Amino acid sequence: MLRYFLMMSAVFILTSAQADFSDWFLQSKGVAKPIKEAIIKPAKEVVSKSITKPIVKPEPPTAQLVDIDTDELIRILDTDPSVVLIDVRAPFEIKHTGTIKRGQNVNIMRGWLEFQISDYALSKDTPIVVYCGLNFRSPLAAKTLMEMGYSNVKNYADGFMTWKKRLNPVKVSDHVPESILYRKPVKVVKNVYSAIGATQPPTYENSNHNNNLSFIVTTNGVLVFNAGGNYLVAKAMHEEIKKITNQKVKYVVLENSQGHAILGANYWQQQGAVIIAHTETDKEIKRIGKEIYLRASSVQKDKIIGTKVIRPDVVFDKQFNLTMGGTKIELMHIGASHSPDDIQLWLPQKKLLISGDTAFNERLLPIFKHTNIKAWIKTWDKIEALAPEVVIPGHGKPTDLATVTKFTKDYLQYMYDQVQNLIDEDGSLTDAYNIDQSAYRDWGTYRELHRQNAERIFRYMEFE
Ligand SMILES: [Zn+2]
Repeated sequence: MLRYFLMMSAVFILTSAQADFSDWFLQSKGVAKPIKEAIIKPAKEVVSKSITKPIVKPEPPTAQLVDIDTDELIRILDTDPSVVLIDVRAPFEIKHTGTIKRGQNVNIMRGWLEFQISDYALSKDTPIVVYCGLNFRSPLAAKTLMEMGYSNVKNYADGFMTWKKRLNPVKVSDHVPESILYRKPVKVVKNVYSAIGATQPPTYENSNHNNNLSFIVTTNGVLVFNAGGNYLVAKAMHEEIKKITNQKVKYVVLENSQGHAILGANYWQQQGAVIIAHTETDKEIKRIGKEIYLRASSVQKDKIIGTKVIRPDVVFDKQFNLTMGGTKIELMHIGASHSPDDIQLWLPQKKLLISGDTAFNERLLPIFKHTNIKAWIKTWDKIEALAPEVVIPGHGKPTDLATVTKFTKDYLQYMYDQVQNLIDEDGSLTDAYNIDQSAYRDWGTYRELHRQNAERIFRYMEFE
């Protein structure tokens, strides 16, 4: 087991070393070049010599497009977390070639720009940089935005192909195209596997597989942790399990009441598995199960087929122990974390923790309206007390305690302290939005969540 873990760690060290290298590369190349000043065309002079001639209407001054090169783009990305960097190419091109791997990067296809820009640029003076592959489409896209009144638009004229050629960080889709699963399960340690979901919000493309779906193989059946985000995801997961073992799936545990944890449960129930969850998860399913289903179906569309919301067969409050063919499995609720009902699975013989959404890796964690940040920080003490050797987090790759601590507790503590300072100084919600979160800007879901997190933590603590 240790050997597997060491191998896994070696892989992770390698990936993080690559990430560090690219950051270093970016900084070392980050020598700023002056931006060309926007040239303002003077309005056409109108000289009417004769009243019989038609009067030429003066054109409004047009700001000229500002082109920037790779060095300047890197400088902007390194210094301004609020810039919206738009890849205007089509998703199929991005799938084949990748896109710029920086936290500010988004994809809006050129034809959709007018309709979708306001989702990303919150005001007309939001700094925007557009690019495509070879600088054909992006100047036109930039002009469109300028005509719409966006006043701080630049065109990355070197284009993505140059960015890539110079070995700058590129994000390539790691989605397995032949499966509805975002990724297929991989072995974490002997007899424990996990299919690592996308570190993004739920999309049609990731099929609601944006969390980790894990399973434990024993000599007396299989236990699955998380039912999956819909019926088809659960079924695909089962197909993968059957390739690894012919043991039956006996139990399916729901980490909380989120759609990606519960919506595949009716598939598993049909297979004869017993569904286990926390008492509060059951209550939430009863209360808002229909809403969870409708929300998921609006994104999943045809992929939701077969999915039905069902309630668990067995519920527990604090602890639920199982022994399956000599493998001890402890289900625990050690305190509130991102939701009040988050549970964890502990394998004492392997010192392995399947943390559910109590621990995150690779992406920014979400703060919900019901998230008690103080309780989550306190719950972390109990995670540390377990001293796990391997952690399969709720989101992001399996890793060690130090890494999930960085992505979870350290972020929470930082935000807690920042908001506490604000409140002590009678700060406002606007000040909360302005909390410097730039250290996290390259984490997955940063763009979608950082402002909302600041707001929710502020609102929560304001009334404490
Ligand atoms: Zn989750």
